[in-house]
Amino acid sequence: MSKKAIFFDRDGTLIVEKNYLKNSSDVILENRVIESLHLLKDDGFLFVIITNQSGIGRGYFTEEDYLDVHLEVVAQFREHGIEFLDDYYCPHHPTKGIGSFKQECLCRKPGTLLIEQAVKEFNLNISESVFVGDKSSDIQAGLSAGMLSVHVQTGHDSFDKICKEFNGTVSSFPDLYEASKFIVT
Ligand SMILES: [Mg+2]
Ligand SMILES: [Zn+2]
Repeated sequence: MSKKAIFFDRDGTLIVEKNYLKNSSDVILENRVIESLHLLKDDGFLFVIITNQSGIGRGYFTEEDYLDVHLEVVAQFREHGIEFLDDYYCPHHPTKGIGSFKQECLCRKPGTLLIEQAVKEFNLNISESVFVGDKSSDIQAGLSAGMLSVHVQTGHDSFDKICKEFNGTVSSFPDLYEASKFIVT
């Protein structure tokens, strides 16, 4: 049986955008996120996190800091009965990365490598899956991977920016709950 998944961006989508979040004590779930994920879970979706974390490559924080934050995110969701298949992160930056972190990689969104890894690892059905994120790079990654891609207005990029960039072809919602209602209908 094919499995469908929601590919979530993390910062500005699932948790409040803090710009280079490195302390687990700064993890705050976005508004109505738990209700949203229950709605999606009840509709049969599995969950994956795909996140650009160039703060690692820029030397703002370490992979260990990232892991601490990730464990806190996972714990807060688990408390409410929500599990993720896995999280995938890109630590690189094409110009600001230090040492080997400075590279034009394929994993940084809008690149699709991390999505492809998750699809392969968990045998997910792309045509039934959805990408949700707050930036145009999220939307572009999802579209390039061949899935429905939905914008939430809780992070960096505005409704207007997304409208212009994708010629009004991408659905955009004030928050994840509104996006989730759209996805399950
Ligand atoms: Mg984001
Ligand atoms: Zn990368």
